[in-house]
Amino acid sequence: MDNIIRDICGPEALGLLLSIMSKPNNVPISVNQPSKPADDKNIDLLKLPVSKVKFVGPAIMNNLEKLGIETVGDLLYHFPHRYIDLSKIRKIGELRAGENATVVGEVKDVKLWRGRKGTRVINVSIFDGTGYIVGTWFNQDFIARRLKEGMQVTFSGKVAYKYRQLQIENPFYDVLSEKSGEPVHSGRIVPIHPATQGLTTNTIRRVVKNALDEYGKVAEPLPDEILKAYKLLPRVEALKEMHFPTNRELLLKARTRFIFEELFLMQIGLAARKKRNEVQTKGIAHRREGELVSALYEALPFKLTEDQKKVIDEIQSDMEKSMPMNRLLQGEVGSGKTVVALVALLTSVQSGYQAALMAPTEVLASQHYIKIKEILNQLGVTTALLTGSLTPKDRLKMVEEVKSGDIDVVIGTHAIIQETVDFSRLGMVVIDEQHRFGVMQRIDLKEKGYYPDVLVMSATPIPRTLSLTLYGDLDVSIIKELPGGRKIGEHINTVLFDRNSRDIAYEKIRIEIAKGRQAYIVCPLIEESDKLENVKAVMSQAEWLKTKVFPQLRVGIIHGQMKAGEKEEVMRWFNKGELDILISTTVIEVGIDVPNATVMLIEDADRFGLAQLHQLRGRIGRGEHKSYCILFADPTTEEGKKRMEAIVNIKDGFELAEADLQIRGEGQLFGTRQSGLPDLKVAKLTRDIEVLAEARKAAFKIIDKDPYLASPLYQHLRQEVRDKFGDSLEWLFQA
Ligand code: ADP
Ligand code: MG
Repeated sequence: MDNIIRDICGPEALGLLLSIMSKPNNVPISVNQPSKPADDKNIDLLKLPVSKVKFVGPAIMNNLEKLGIETVGDLLYHFPHRYIDLSKIRKIGELRAGENATVVGEVKDVKLWRGRKGTRVINVSIFDGTGYIVGTWFNQDFIARRLKEGMQVTFSGKVAYKYRQLQIENPFYDVLSEKSGEPVHSGRIVPIHPATQGLTTNTIRRVVKNALDEYGKVAEPLPDEILKAYKLLPRVEALKEMHFPTNRELLLKARTRFIFEELFLMQIGLAARKKRNEVQTKGIAHRREGELVSALYEALPFKLTEDQKKVIDEIQSDMEKSMPMNRLLQGEVGSGKTVVALVALLTSVQSGYQAALMAPTEVLASQHYIKIKEILNQLGVTTALLTGSLTPKDRLKMVEEVKSGDIDVVIGTHAIIQETVDFSRLGMVVIDEQHRFGVMQRIDLKEKGYYPDVLVMSATPIPRTLSLTLYGDLDVSIIKELPGGRKIGEHINTVLFDRNSRDIAYEKIRIEIAKGRQAYIVCPLIEESDKLENVKAVMSQAEWLKTKVFPQLRVGIIHGQMKAGEKEEVMRWFNKGELDILISTTVIEVGIDVPNATVMLIEDADRFGLAQLHQLRGRIGRGEHKSYCILFADPTTEEGKKRMEAIVNIKDGFELAEADLQIRGEGQLFGTRQSGLPDLKVAKLTRDIEVLAEARKAAFKIIDKDPYLASPLYQHLRQEVRDKFGDSLEWLFQA
């Protein structure tokens, strides 16, 4: 219904937003007078308790609290979620059956009666001066209690003509005012604020109006240069237009301003955090040239790819500087990140420091260890694998050796290294598969007095939206090509089977194995934390596959509940080709590298997320042979279907990550709740990516110019940032 503005920033509106932002002389707007002497009281208006607002007594205050509104600022930023455009309202007398319409009228009659089979029918009749129309609901008694004679209400829905009356079944309704004759408000677009039990949108509208009248003249946090450059509405005006729009155009402009403001403040926070790191002088200036890295290059059985050379150069340039490196290395599974990590570790060791390599799981840590131990030994670099399965005695010994500096490179899980180890001189930390730790849970070793260079590696492609926000304070290096010039997923064929097509899939496995290849079968739901029943279920399925389906083949089983040593052994067999099939839970998700494996069969594929499926799929197609990823799934939900469609059709990880974001919405990605992504009220990352990019540019430019926002021009911005981010940016305010 186009007369109700539900989401005025839907995709079609975005183009409009951007055109408003960039087009000069679009509707003249009043830009703030160039910096008046700052009045700090103005900005503190936002911090006043909401009880200061006229009409807000204890009862209303209580209810506002339920909506998270405690201050005047909270109330002024409690924006309507919908608007009703009264200029598009139809006269009841002109309505025809069959059309969709919105009408406004006064409630004349409310009836609740029992229909056939005991259904309770609610009829609410309204009148607008041209005619009557009846809203009809079933079994929703509360509506009969909510709508009262004399109220001004709107009904929207499909008009029908029944029992010689116009009516709308289950209309979408809003109460515009509680009493007849009460002014709705001045403009033609009525705001509908999110309400709650005991607090109607009507009351909120009234309270917001009072707040705007009394305290609406708040200071402008956005610097003049920004307002001008992006032609943004000043805050005072934007607040008014947001709550009580003069027209659609100004409403859009107001909305744009707050989207920009929200993203801009977030980026100021990130820019400041990044700056803090850069002004940090306690970091280590490593030596790029040295015999260890040269020796490594000589020992490698292959030549580095151009992408590898490029990212190594970026990393080493950072490492040479005395400010600590904070860099994210993205490269899909198999792109050869390990050797890049190795160069970083050795650059540190050859400069006289110790280095650590952290992985999310013990399996991965020991994989890394196995992979690089040999070459490190060859180069005379001492290394240790620190895992939970060490005996206390061995562990103590190892920890001592790290502390004394006898061990150059420590490999282990994040938790173990961070919690139990003291270093004698830590220079470099590489963190693998960071997203598994929870995105924002950045390693922080400063309390221990270390200022190492940090390289975060991820094989999970991070869409641009998130790399500009969650990782917005890191520098980014990307490897795009695979060794051998191949592109990711180039020769993997992904197919979706329903579970009845098992035999075809099993036959495919037999054919590949007859050609000398190997296969993975993945069962879901067994993580290291998993319950015994699940392990049992997988075990019995594995047994069935082993004895009934593939009796002639060599089948190994691996799951998260096995001891590290046992896991390693099975993995070793599979690596050496002594097993044809590896039945596994998701422990193989990351880091496993067997180029001879060409089939992956995933059970219940719709129970995995897209990122995880893509990770799993990355285990095959690593050699020169064509590979097959077979998904068993019968997705029942719309989302599940979309996900399966995406994984079958999209090979590129970044593209898939964007698709994932679209399908799931940003809220769920990586569990952003605990990841520290700020709560966004008006902005939507998936929709506002271009505004985000602009806001980021602007924010970084300002922080670059004036890292502490010390100029009087930024006084209000500084205050706003401080109120918003508080302690996490405390350092900014110490200068
Ligand atoms: P990632 O950790 O990024 O998933 P790895 O570092 O495990 O990838 O590398 C995948 C495989 O490619 C390994 O077998 C590795 O030895 C090999 N490899 C890495 N770089 C090159 C290269 N430049 N040329 C050929 N093979 C390479
Ligand atoms: Mg890796």
